[in-house]
Amino acid sequence: MPDSVEGFAGNPLDRLSLLREDAAAVAQMAADPAAMAVVLVQSMPILRAEGDALLARHPLAQARDFGAAEIEVLLGRDESGPLFALLLPDAAAQMQEEADDGSLSDRRRLVLQNKPELQIRDLRVLAAKNRLTRPELAILGQAKSILHYHATHGFCARCGAPTVAFAAGWRRDCPACGARHFPRTDPVAIMLVVDGDFCLLGRARHFPEKMYSCLAGFIESGETLEEAVRREVFEESGIVVGAVRYAASQPWPFPASLMFGCIGQALSRDIRIDAEELEDCRWFTRAEARAMIEERHQEGLFAPGKAAIARSLLEHWLREEQVGLREDEVASIAEARAQKTA
Ligand SMILES: [Zn+2]
Repeated sequence: MPDSVEGFAGNPLDRLSLLREDAAAVAQMAADPAAMAVVLVQSMPILRAEGDALLARHPLAQARDFGAAEIEVLLGRDESGPLFALLLPDAAAQMQEEADDGSLSDRRRLVLQNKPELQIRDLRVLAAKNRLTRPELAILGQAKSILHYHATHGFCARCGAPTVAFAAGWRRDCPACGARHFPRTDPVAIMLVVDGDFCLLGRARHFPEKMYSCLAGFIESGETLEEAVRREVFEESGIVVGAVRYAASQPWPFPASLMFGCIGQALSRDIRIDAEELEDCRWFTRAEARAMIEERHQEGLFAPGKAAIARSLLEHWLREEQVGLREDEVASIAEARAQKTA
């Protein structure tokens, strides 16, 4: 299944994590004429057109001319050379137009004052429209998440003093109290709950109209992945989940999540929607789920696009048999839930 996850997985870079603290080595890479950079402004990558293709990488020397970067992070290296990520200040780009098409995408059209020929586009749009290769999309995801960390961690969470970037942008240190602050990755459980020929899909209020997807939620402190799956599903839909099988993961740079995709076996059928979280939640047959993926559902309902792991989980389930569960496991999980709701 991992190969079927499209969006933001498959980063080809050697991250050079053992070299990051060697400032001389990092400076040498930045001085390499082959050094390239991806550049973001207001969370969106700046792209250049070459024929029909959109390219995310710019020669580092040129990228530095786009504007005074707030931070330069060493992303890693591949066969073409070292690759950096630069973050321009928000003011470097101006809004050209904004189109709200009801999707989850950021449809702002931004433009750089001194480089109006460059295109600035939301990563969701680029992923949905297949405008970049899979490796380049993954690299931009890495850049977006790490640059978001720098944009939001300028001050020490322990003492409030300004922090300083260190280790080629993979840490921020506090000169006042000595605390070291590492970039965050936020774990999210996303699960397709199944029961025989049926799967459970819901829709949040902010979803595009008629789109249904897997349930999902942040994994909390002190919680296993499996426990998070059972808690989230029970809270949002009232459905009791037994066996949980991990399927695949996906970096999700909005802003810095890691999605853990799971298949969960339902032990109950009656849905009780949490109206705060979901607008609707239903059981769908395999035939309906297939129709939603192929955009021929008779009510016009559809599933998320190929860049989303929810789509991969659905496709995975449509190809496979349901997950098995021993009878004693079913009994113990159902009993525990019954006690909780009594
Ligand atoms: Zn501090």
